Amino acid sequence: MSSSPIASGPWARRQSRRVLISYGAREIAVGGGAPVMVQSMTNTDTADAIGTAIQIKDLARAGSEVVRLTVNTPEAAAAVPAIREQLDRMGVDVPLVGDFHYNGHTLLTEYPECAKALSKYRINPGNVGKGAKRDTQFAQMIEVACKYDKPVRIGVNWGSLDQALLARIMDENAGRAEPWPAQAVMYEALVTSAIENAQRAEELGLAGDKIILSCKVSGVQDLIAVYRELARRCDYPLHLGLTEAGMGSKGIVASTAALSVLLQEGIGDTIRISLTPEPGGDRTREVVVGQEILQTMGLRKFTPMVIACPGCGRTTSTVFQDLADKIQTYLRDQMPVWKGKYPGVESMNVAVMGCIVNGPGESKHANIGISLPGTGESPAAPVFIDGEKRMTLRGERIAEEFQSVVLEYVQTRYGQADQKGQA
Ligand code: SF4
Repeated sequence: MSSSPIASGPWARRQSRRVLISYGAREIAVGGGAPVMVQSMTNTDTADAIGTAIQIKDLARAGSEVVRLTVNTPEAAAAVPAIREQLDRMGVDVPLVGDFHYNGHTLLTEYPECAKALSKYRINPGNVGKGAKRDTQFAQMIEVACKYDKPVRIGVNWGSLDQALLARIMDENAGRAEPWPAQAVMYEALVTSAIENAQRAEELGLAGDKIILSCKVSGVQDLIAVYRELARRCDYPLHLGLTEAGMGSKGIVASTAALSVLLQEGIGDTIRISLTPEPGGDRTREVVVGQEILQTMGLRKFTPMVIACPGCGRTTSTVFQDLADKIQTYLRDQMPVWKGKYPGVESMNVAVMGCIVNGPGESKHANIGISLPGTGESPAAPVFIDGEKRMTLRGERIAEEFQSVVLEYVQTRYGQADQKGQA
């Protein structure tokens, strides 16, 4: 049999160790072929246990599989067990990750209930301490991780790169017959920092399958270059993210551009999208963007997708835009219930199209599609189900009626699958 000359991605996943992040009965695998996991981070004051627990609940409900929170003060460390208890009371079993800088060794040692309540620690090797204290303080944090059997992310960031290590790499470069450019030296320092600290953690007794690495930078090309090198030089699972991605479309586009290239190459085991929310904006946006990157790339399925045309001069109103938006919001809002009740529903495609040019064709490719009338067309909207025209909607209540059709389809198709599965 001859193979197709047109190959489809993504490429094979990079081989890595598998790290388990657990809380209670919940166990999330990272690396070792596990699905790429979506995580997020709170922006509340961790010392505000109730406010932080509520935001974590929202992030988890949006689909964040792990949530990180900053642990920066004694008050924050003291609040972590209370946050965990509050989440337990709300039935939210998402594992929590503590983000430590500067005083992590003290907080993890002096607040053992905090150390126990967290499911993973993030250690930034550039912010562990200076001089002789650095090694001692790093060792203290690793000792706590070993004691409570917690995984650790060695999270390097070029905004806080270990300056002593950078100086060493620069000295080595100066000794080369043909010194590398400054950018290559920076890449080397980032990768070396992550790998050397992981090796040091293993020497201190932390198992190799308890370590995840990241090397975050804010430039797309820099991130791709650094992670390709990191992936080549180690087999720890990798946490991907563009740090300080920015606000609005810039943050989304930059994160998507960088992560898509790496994920396509099989690099990356968990992702976090570091969006800056608009004032008063919704923190869960970063979770939705992360899921949409993975789903549009065909790596995972989270929520039924709405295919909508962009509209053009053939559309005379915003009816189809409103309908596309309503349906997408409706589907996402239903998912927390649907994903347990209607297995497989996350694979469903719904098309909302603006006119006859591409409307019927695109609608036939989707599980359910509606082709709204464009300029000059009779005011009728044919609905296609599994490729066949089944009905025509008319009048002012097209959106509500179409939503009912979608719900009936979900109940019939995925509800039956559920019953068959239980039989
Ligand atoms: S489907 Fe129709 S309305 Fe939508 S973009 Fe194409 S031509 Fe324009």
